Amino acid sequence: MLNVLVVGGGISGGSAAIYTAQGGLDTAVIDSGKSQIKQVSKVFNYPGIKEITGPELLGNIKEQAVAAGTEWFEGTVQSVEQKESAFEVSLADGRKLETKYLVVATNIQTSILESLGFELAVNEKVPSGKIKKVLGIDPDGKTHIPNLYITSLLAGLSSQSVIASGHGASVGISIMSIETGKSYMWHDK
Ligand SMILES: Cc1cc2nc3c(=O)[nH]c(=O)nc-3n(C[C@H](O)[C@H](O)[C@H](O)COP(=O)(O)OP(=O)(O)OC[C@H]3O[C@@H](n4cnc5c(N)ncnc54)[C@H](O)[C@@H]3O)c2cc1C
Repeated sequence: MLNVLVVGGGISGGSAAIYTAQGGLDTAVIDSGKSQIKQVSKVFNYPGIKEITGPELLGNIKEQAVAAGTEWFEGTVQSVEQKESAFEVSLADGRKLETKYLVVATNIQTSILESLGFELAVNEKVPSGKIKKVLGIDPDGKTHIPNLYITSLLAGLSSQSVIASGHGASVGISIMSIETGKSYMWHDK
């Protein structure tokens, strides 16, 4: 069984995986390859990086996650079943994975959350009025379902890559803090 399974390998999911894998947790990402940042030819607003293409930013995050030990799978998660102390995640191609912590980082895709019974509302931070969020999410992505976390837009945040990345990191830190029993900090020398 995995420690952490991240559904969605975009900016936020990849960032969460960097933290949990670097922290030593057995981490996997399942990604269907449709990150919104792929549509952006030049990103100028990611602090610390003056200019980068969306695909390059995404690729760097994936490389960092894999270098930290994340297993990265292409695929689409179709359903999630809550078991006694784990989640059973079924992919469209028939594969099944079990995990202790589940991070839903699917951005505009809500089907998994609807099937788990989450109540959705309009994310008013996105002007179109068409984007959804889950009500009652903690700042670090925690939900009312133990060990299930939700990132970025679906947690009611704004649609910006640095916010998605920071929130993914925050989710990773929250999981690491529970697993280590103290507030987790990653300090490079
Ligand atoms: C046209 C456009 C322009 C933008 N320009 C900018 C900009 O200039 N600067 C900026 O900061 N931000 C910009 N953004 C916003 C930025 O793209 C997002 O903030 C960022 O991608 C959100 O990261 P995320 O991880 O939440 O979602 P994403 O990066 O979209 O990743 C979600 C991932 O989940 C996967 N997924 C979904 N459902 C499943 C499933 N069931 N199973 C497996 N995988 C699944 C998707 O395939 C995708 O890879 C722009 C967005 C758009 C649409």
